[in-house]
Amino acid sequence: MANPRSQIFFTVCSILLITTTIQSQTTWRDEGDFPDILGYTTLVCDFHTHTVFSDGTVWPTVRVTEAWREGLDAFALTDHLEFNDYEEDVIINLERPHQIALPDAQDLDLICIKGAEISRKMPPGHFNALFLTNVTAVKCDSYQDALKTAMDQGAFIIWNHPGWRQPEQKGIWYEEHTQIYNNGWMHGIEVVNEKTYYPEVQAWAMEKKLTMIGGSDIHGPTGIEFRLETGDHRTCTLVFAKEKSESAIKEALFARRTAIWVENKLIGEEQYLKPIFFNSIKVTQPQTLVLSRSSITVIIRNNSEISYELVSAGKIPGWKYPVRLTLPAHRTIYFTVSPDQKSVE
Ligand SMILES: [Zn+2]
Ligand SMILES: [Zn+2]
Repeated sequence: MANPRSQIFFTVCSILLITTTIQSQTTWRDEGDFPDILGYTTLVCDFHTHTVFSDGTVWPTVRVTEAWREGLDAFALTDHLEFNDYEEDVIINLERPHQIALPDAQDLDLICIKGAEISRKMPPGHFNALFLTNVTAVKCDSYQDALKTAMDQGAFIIWNHPGWRQPEQKGIWYEEHTQIYNNGWMHGIEVVNEKTYYPEVQAWAMEKKLTMIGGSDIHGPTGIEFRLETGDHRTCTLVFAKEKSESAIKEALFARRTAIWVENKLIGEEQYLKPIFFNSIKVTQPQTLVLSRSSITVIIRNNSEISYELVSAGKIPGWKYPVRLTLPAHRTIYFTVSPDQKSVE
């Protein structure tokens, strides 16, 4: 007959063993929480990443796991066509990054977009071509042939980091860009690359009706380049799509339904940013604010990834309330609206 004490000991050991095994098999995901707006699904996307197939330092499957853990819905692999840092160690086949990443991405319900970065010195600089069917064919002697070949494949083309290697990192719109734009070979533009924001480029995007894009342009592992454990995140593009699918993302990009998420900021057109804000917050109390002579406690929940800073737009005579408020991400706050005795007779 077994000693009851040793039975308990073995049971405890078994539980510990099971717990350790389960923990080693699981990983967590930070959901990129943004509300759906205007009848569209809000998708968190990164359209600019590199692997060891150009000058990145990670294998394509690592990009999949990172994207999943960071709450992305879609990402594009956009290795440079023209240069590779590891050609002595990696057999360069430009179709391979997407082929390698796709099965893992499908297992995790992530959309993995086949792309490439057409890379020339400025002007015209670098362009990402997304939704390619044959990356190898886009590797051409002239950038014009490369862009045209990408267009023939139905690509969505983005001018990347327009301020790169320009005085004070300010974008300059050269004659080459006018030609590319007039040919219809430029659809989007990186208003933010990594964490660099180009305000002049945002103005071009609005004036020339280009889609606003924010790309991480990540080369190393995201866990090393960003302090993810402190809430830091890569720059992403929010896409307002009809559904979560590659074709819906493509349709939304051509229709310019995007915003950029960089640090604790959203950059984009008012028509999208306003509903994101109003769909992020919920005033849980009171349902209707009726001012009377007594104090009122207001409770607001912020369900989004963004901490909103609110500034009072005006004054309500006879009432006291905070003129500035922070609505922290994923938190609920309360504040009091009360009669201002000084101004009440
Ligand atoms: Zn580049
Ligand atoms: Zn790049």
